[in-house]
Amino acid sequence: MAVAPFLPVHAAKLNVVATTTMVTDLVKEVGGDRVKVVGLMGPGVDPHLYKPASGDVVKLQRAKVIFYSGLMLEGRMTDLFFRMSRTGKLVYAVTESIPEKDRLEPPEFSGHWDPHVWGDPILWSRCVITVVDGLSKADPAGAAEYAKRGKLVVASYEAMRTWALERVSQVPKTQRILVTSHDAFNYFGKAFGFQVVAVQGLSTVSEAGLADIAKTVDFIKQKKIKAIFVESSVNPAAIERVSKDAGVKIGGELFSDACGKVGDIHEAHGEKYDVGTFVGMLKHNINTVVDALK
Ligand SMILES: [Zn+2]
Repeated sequence: MAVAPFLPVHAAKLNVVATTTMVTDLVKEVGGDRVKVVGLMGPGVDPHLYKPASGDVVKLQRAKVIFYSGLMLEGRMTDLFFRMSRTGKLVYAVTESIPEKDRLEPPEFSGHWDPHVWGDPILWSRCVITVVDGLSKADPAGAAEYAKRGKLVVASYEAMRTWALERVSQVPKTQRILVTSHDAFNYFGKAFGFQVVAVQGLSTVSEAGLADIAKTVDFIKQKKIKAIFVESSVNPAAIERVSKDAGVKIGGELFSDACGKVGDIHEAHGEKYDVGTFVGMLKHNINTVVDALK
């Protein structure tokens, strides 16, 4: 038998597709070198509104495993995931391992869970087990490696939370109020002790009305809030209007439903981090909020 001399001898990587940048980063961290992850949604993309492109369907069909965020975050893709799952494809919502008692169900979400769980790094670390299990099922030879890497990921999220709480302690308690465009920060607020006020409702599908803007302006004046924030994946118009009407400055841009660009290194307080990763994104958000409100 003739053997082709130039064929690579190493095993092919496990082909995985993920939806948002946060899920993509999580799967990369757990999967390491054994896994090739294609993320469908880039930086600045709003997952509530995202509709699969024709090229996405091909990528999803070729994938051995699919990970999405879930809790209706990818509202226009959920049916597609259900259909693919029924054909026997390995499809996982990473948030399925978050216990119901830890999920928030604010009234404005009218009967749905709030999907923005990554705002709390400890809750997001609960998703690691779903990724470890899903990768191990598709690639049993890598199971020990995925379990080991999963533990390191959980530890890094715990370390980041400790760092964040220390930073937040520099903001006076009465100033721990976060005003942003949409309801992406309920878990963040609960984890780090901020009251969260969103001009626009839960998802980005509905635009903020004039009454919402006027109410927010009154609130800011009454509480003497120093700064409010725009979001990278949401139209800044409402927050800009509030800023002008209330005479309050915009403290910076927060990453809400998408991380930044992979490889975009930010530096603050003598520390560098990549805002294209989950840890870097949350560090950026904490530093931006703390520096503007302290
Ligand atoms: Zn959102």
